[in-house]
Amino acid sequence: MEKKKQWSAATESVWAGEKDYLVHGATQVPVVHSVAYNYDDVDEWYEVAIGKRKGHIYGRNTNPTVESFEQKIKILEKAEAATSFSTGMAAISNSLLTVLKPGDRVVSIKDTYGGTNKIFSEFLPRLNIDVELVETGNHEEMEKEIAKGCKLVYLETPTNPTVKITDLERITKAAKAVNALVFVDNTFATPINQNPLALGVDLVIHSATKFLGGHADALGGVVCGGEALVHDIYHYREINGATMDPMAAYLILRGMKTLKLRVEKQQENALKVAQFLQRHEKVEQVFYPGLENHVNHDIAKKQMKGFGGMLSFALKGELDAVRQFLPKLQIAHRAANLGAVETTVGPARTTSHVENTPEERAALGIPEGLVRYSAGIEEIDDLLFDLKQALDQITI
Ligand SMILES: *Cc1c(COP(=O)(O)O)cnc(C)c1O
Repeated sequence: MEKKKQWSAATESVWAGEKDYLVHGATQVPVVHSVAYNYDDVDEWYEVAIGKRKGHIYGRNTNPTVESFEQKIKILEKAEAATSFSTGMAAISNSLLTVLKPGDRVVSIKDTYGGTNKIFSEFLPRLNIDVELVETGNHEEMEKEIAKGCKLVYLETPTNPTVKITDLERITKAAKAVNALVFVDNTFATPINQNPLALGVDLVIHSATKFLGGHADALGGVVCGGEALVHDIYHYREINGATMDPMAAYLILRGMKTLKLRVEKQQENALKVAQFLQRHEKVEQVFYPGLENHVNHDIAKKQMKGFGGMLSFALKGELDAVRQFLPKLQIAHRAANLGAVETTVGPARTTSHVENTPEERAALGIPEGLVRYSAGIEEIDDLLFDLKQALDQITI
C-alpha cells in the first residue's frame, strides 16, 4: 500500500502528534500531572537532563501532554519545532526577549494586539530597544523603515480588532534583504487559513486560548519555527517559567481535533454576518477581509485560504448605541474572548485594547463605538435574527 506523504489539515488536526504519547492502549493522550520523573539509573537520568536522551525531568521544562500538543501544532504549521507557554502573551514576550538585546531595533505595525502594543510602547523602550510602529497596511512605509536596518520585523495579520491585512510575502522579502527576523502572530488566521512559515517567516505565534482551543476553557500560547530559534525560545521559557499547564494542554489538544470544522463554520457565519451588517442602516462601517470593499481584500485572497471568523463594526451613534445594542443580543457572550464555539462580542475598549487610553485607541484607528464580533458555530439564521432584533432596538 502506498503511504500518503502529507495528510490534509483536517486529518492532521485529528491525528497528528498523539501516537507517541498514548499509554495502556488508550486512544486519547493522558493528562500527566506529575511534576517530576523517576530515574533509578543515575547515568540515564543525567543523559536525559542534559538532553542527550529523550525523556522528562521536571514539569517547568517539558511534560508529555504538553509535548503532544506541541507536536500537533508543529505539524499543522509545517514547522521543524514548536514550544508552548502559559498564555499567548507569554509566547510573545518570551520570544521577543529571547532574540532582542539593548540597542536593537524592531519594526512593527500600529495595531497589533493590545498587550503586544504595550510591550512595544512600555517594556521594550525600558531595555533601550527601539520600536518603530508603522501604519498597518502601508507597505511602502514599512519597507522604508525595514531598509534602515532592524533586528526583527513583528507582524500580525489579520489584526485585532480591525482585521487589517499585511502582505506577508512582500514584507518578509524586505526583512530578509536586511537579515532581519520575521515573527507573525497567526492567532486570527489559524493554520487552517494561513501558514506564514511557508512564505519565509521565521516564527509563527499563536494565542492557543482562542481558535486552537476553541472552547474558551483553557489559556495557552505556542510558537512554531526552525529548530535552532525554537530551542533558544524554549530555553528562555524553561528558565523563566511561563510553562503551559498539562490540563490546559489536554483541553487545547482536544479542541484542536475540530479546528478545521469550527473555522470553516465560523468563517461561513462571519461572512454572512458581515454582509448583513453592511446593509443595515444603523451600522456605520464593517471590517471583514472577506468583503470585497475591505482595503486589503486582494492581499487576503492571495495569502489566506479563508477569511476567518473575526469581524468588527462601528455603529452609528457610537458608544451610546453600543450600550443599547449589546445587552439586547440573546445569543452571544459579551466577553473579552474570541475564537470560541460560542459567538462572543465586545467593544475594543473593554477587550483587545483595554490596556490603552482613549487617546491611544484613537491614534490606532479604533473608534470608541467599535464592536468586535467573533462568529461562533451557531445556525446563521439564528445569529442574523438576533442581530436584527438587537439593532432594531437602538433608539439613537
Ligand atoms: C488574545 C490574543 C493574544 C494574547 O493571548 P493570551 O492567551 O490572552 O495571552 C495575542 N494575540 C492575539 C491576536 C490575540 O487575539
